[in-house]
Amino acid sequence: MRLTRYFLPVLKENPAEAQIVSHRYMLRAGMIKQQAAGIYSWLPLGFKVLKRIEQIVHEEQIRAGHIPLLMPTLQPADLWRESGRYDDYGQEMLRIKDRHERDMLYGPTNEEMITDIFRSHVNSYKDLPLTLYHIQWKFRDEVRPRFGVMRGREFLMKDGYNFDVDRDAALHAYNRHMVSYLRTYERMGLTAIPMRAASGPIGGDNTHEFLVLASTGESEVFYDDAVTDLKLGNRTVDYDDRDQVKAICDEFTTLYARTDETHDEALFNAVPEDRRKVGRGIEVGQIFYFGTKYSESMGATVVTADGSRVPVEMGSHGIGVSRLLGAIIEASHDDKGIIWPEGVTPFHAGIVNLKQGDAATDAACEAIYAALKAKGLDPLYDDRDERAGAKFATMDLIGLPWRVTVGPRGLANGLVELTSRRTGESEEMTAEAAVDRIAQIYEGV
Ligand code: ATP
Ligand code: MG
Repeated sequence: MRLTRYFLPVLKENPAEAQIVSHRYMLRAGMIKQQAAGIYSWLPLGFKVLKRIEQIVHEEQIRAGHIPLLMPTLQPADLWRESGRYDDYGQEMLRIKDRHERDMLYGPTNEEMITDIFRSHVNSYKDLPLTLYHIQWKFRDEVRPRFGVMRGREFLMKDGYNFDVDRDAALHAYNRHMVSYLRTYERMGLTAIPMRAASGPIGGDNTHEFLVLASTGESEVFYDDAVTDLKLGNRTVDYDDRDQVKAICDEFTTLYARTDETHDEALFNAVPEDRRKVGRGIEVGQIFYFGTKYSESMGATVVTADGSRVPVEMGSHGIGVSRLLGAIIEASHDDKGIIWPEGVTPFHAGIVNLKQGDAATDAACEAIYAALKAKGLDPLYDDRDERAGAKFATMDLIGLPWRVTVGPRGLANGLVELTSRRTGESEEMTAEAAVDRIAQIYEGV
């Protein structure tokens, strides 16, 4: 993309309404525009990152054997009357009447609807295990929408639902989700710690939240510092192997890590004192095992091997897709702007032309731009007629991990400069070497 042909409405001033850094940078980098409290338009740069995050979520869900579908945002109230949650949910639920005076709602989550789909089409244990998920907009009329996309009213969530014949199979589905989530967050450059949580309105007793440590997080967290060193890395996981999947979950949940709702002072005190940490975290996902809570009230049953009919065992599992943009920025920025991890960056590299209009410099930039595209990469070429300082400031703000700087002085020696946004370190090399280096970096991403 050439910047002169893009739509990147960056702001020079710090927006007064933004209290935390991710919100401030998302507004300044022209990623989002607020349309009403907690409701945003996703401008091109923000939309690009949102799509990349969504893509990683899809890939990891499909890798775990989960099946994508798409349910609507609007739901009939009657489904929620069946489960008993229509009255329980309270003011967070946006209730709507259609022209026939039928009660509708904008879905805050989809347990009821997925259970309805299941009971309409599945009858036998032979069709299990089954996990269906979608990535769809949700609406929750939060009392206090704030911090930009972190606590919106309309937000994008991945929500998945497992259906299993018995408790053991359902617990395996729970564990499978935990491992797939760990992988998902790691690919986004995040450390998200699974913490034992309280279940809230969804119900059930087996639940973990995934928290990204950040001083601006809304949850108070208590943890053994050693949990922050745990990494999945690139080990191969066989998601059908119950023992392997469980062993990974045990590895990630044995050390103490809890939110304030489940915090246990006595257990915490057993952690060696120098590793005992109290901090704040951003909830980027949550998994629940709730058994037959919905299947019983809504009549979702299966015939088992011995011919009896039982309510299906279920769980639900959510990732805050749009909230993740904020969480990633909270975890990865400096005083000049965002620092995107390679896994989610909106463009793979920026090209800065220091002397727009100079024939040789323009030609060198065009060649680098074409070479990066030929390698399947997506570069952003700052071809504006602007001073170098302004171009650098924009690149630093929007946070592309790699920048190629091209000017007449370097070109006289056949060299350009490759700069890492994260370390700030620059290296001079030929344009070909810079292109190869960038391509190599993204090979493993
Ligand atoms: P919170 O405690 O932050 O209100 P929740 O526990 O009610 O969230 P879940 O029902 O677990 O939310 O939803 C799954 C995920 O969706 C959460 O882990 C979070 O990342 C995201 N999420 C929930 N509410 C919002 C919101 N208002 N804005 C953006 N993302 C949200
Ligand atoms: Mg939650």
